[in-house]
Amino acid sequence: MRKPLIISLMLFVYAISSAQTQTQTQNQQVTKPPLARLGDQNKMTPWMTEIWDPEIKIIQPGAKDSDPPSDAIVLFNGTDINSEWEDTQGNPSKWIIKDGALISVRGAGMIKTKRKFSNFQLHIEWKTPSEVTGESQGRGNSGVFLQGLYEVQVLDSYNNRTYRDGQAGSLYKQRAPLVNDCRKPGEWQSYDIIYTAPTFNNDTTTYFTPPRVTVLQNGVLIQNNFSLRGPTEYIGMPEYFIKKHGAESLQLQDHGNPVAFRNIWIREL
Ligand code: MG
Repeated sequence: MRKPLIISLMLFVYAISSAQTQTQTQNQQVTKPPLARLGDQNKMTPWMTEIWDPEIKIIQPGAKDSDPPSDAIVLFNGTDINSEWEDTQGNPSKWIIKDGALISVRGAGMIKTKRKFSNFQLHIEWKTPSEVTGESQGRGNSGVFLQGLYEVQVLDSYNNRTYRDGQAGSLYKQRAPLVNDCRKPGEWQSYDIIYTAPTFNNDTTTYFTPPRVTVLQNGVLIQNNFSLRGPTEYIGMPEYFIKKHGAESLQLQDHGNPVAFRNIWIREL
């Protein structure tokens, strides 16, 4: 009688321990060092500067770095546009879905997320048309508008000169990208964008802290924590147009070119 009991117990312990190696778990039993005692204050020990609680929140990363982690909001997964997006008037968007990609339609206007965001990490993949037409700003133009106001330019900048603060990866008319690492037209590219929303002075028309943007294009850093001067403007200085705002939608631009997007996810920070 005793032997089968011991074997079952061993199997149970093995099952528990192997399950714990599959995924991380919160609140594992660990031996924490004692808190600093009175009388030890003049003698520093390593554990006086160790902070254990609260334990860092555990999430599950995607299978690939481009896959959404468990705490991301998926804004487009290749099938549905209407649950997360609408046009800027609040109507269903006329952008189309083809082969799992969301494609801008000339004249359909910009689209915006129904949700509003403040600080975030955004992953978005984009592709300019393989059939190259137009030049400079007229080739594969779209844009990712952070909080609907601040454009990270999307453009076919592969063998296509334009003004440096207007090419792909620029913070339009405010900051050129650090390098041009564009892939060929017709190939998928990615932006990973880290955005910190602005705070405002009491006058409501100047920033207390400006919006800040970091962008990686195809895994390469192209904007490094840049402080924006104001909302994106086509004509005029951006700082003339600052107006207090809170959380806002993410927007994608219709600039008349059929630019495709896929695998769009965001993490609120
Ligand atoms: Mg644009």
